Amino acid sequence: MHIKIENLNKVYPNGNYAIKNLNLEIPNGMFGLLGPNGAGKSTLMRILVTLMKPSSGKVTVNDLDLAKNRREIRSMLGYLPQDFSFFSKLKTYEFLDYAARLAGMTNGAARRSAVDQMLEEVGLFEARDRNANKLSGGMKRRLGIAQALINDPKIIIVDEPTTGLDPEERIRFRNLLSTISQRDVIIILSTHIVGDISSTCYNMALLNQGKLAFSGSPEQLTKEAEGSVWLIKATETEYLEINEKFPVISTIPTDGGWEVQVVANEINGYLGKRIEPNLEHAYVHFMENKLNQWSKS
Ligand code: ADP
Repeated sequence: MHIKIENLNKVYPNGNYAIKNLNLEIPNGMFGLLGPNGAGKSTLMRILVTLMKPSSGKVTVNDLDLAKNRREIRSMLGYLPQDFSFFSKLKTYEFLDYAARLAGMTNGAARRSAVDQMLEEVGLFEARDRNANKLSGGMKRRLGIAQALINDPKIIIVDEPTTGLDPEERIRFRNLLSTISQRDVIIILSTHIVGDISSTCYNMALLNQGKLAFSGSPEQLTKEAEGSVWLIKATETEYLEINEKFPVISTIPTDGGWEVQVVANEINGYLGKRIEPNLEHAYVHFMENKLNQWSKS
């Protein structure tokens, strides 16, 4: 599978310019779309799932033009929106069965077997008779991905995948997506949580104010921050100053002071050393430096 986005623009009727001349290629596997709130991620997702038309530009899926082959592309899609909710009173398996009917699975026996298999795959078989709206947050999210996958989609789009999940469920959900991404599919994760991407995606894009700020691997983005992440040993007073001067990533109390991780090119006089960046550092670095310069230019 392969998605190609060319010169894409979206201006909302009220004049909000949400996507600005976007060019991006999305290959097979897990793809992370990262950016702060308002970056244009949801707008792009809505265009890709054919819920909304772009103002201009072109999207092709393999060799199919999205503008001309909406129905065909729709049949390849599985979508888990951020605010996915359930019809009350349906049991877990009934809900999935309903989703399968909506997806056009008319053969009863085949559908039941697909539903059972999917419940097994997402770890909800034991919970099949429970009311869907009474499942835990993580289980609901897994039922959400089950409904998105029931029709064997080739492109799976997940908006804010782990928002509201506890750490254990977050890991479980990421692992589930990783397993699915081994098939011939594209999974796009749209998120503002760096951890969703660093642990699972081979390729990613960073969007800001509707523009593409970076595309490549998480490792390449991390490299951009090399030399710009510091661990400073600070006293209480210094800590307050540092907090004013630099973007602080983390703070750990030590004997008589703090160990503070900051993103900065130089730390002018404070006692500290450079450390290896991770993706979170790189994201902050990018937002602080490049994007600031860029929005001013
Ligand atoms: P993200 O998902 O990254 O938070 P969005 O795609 O929701 O970003 O928003 C991008 C920009 O488009 C923002 O400035 C937002 O206010 C605007 N926007 C989003 N949806 C609409 C809409 N329905 N009408 C007008 N403006 C919108």
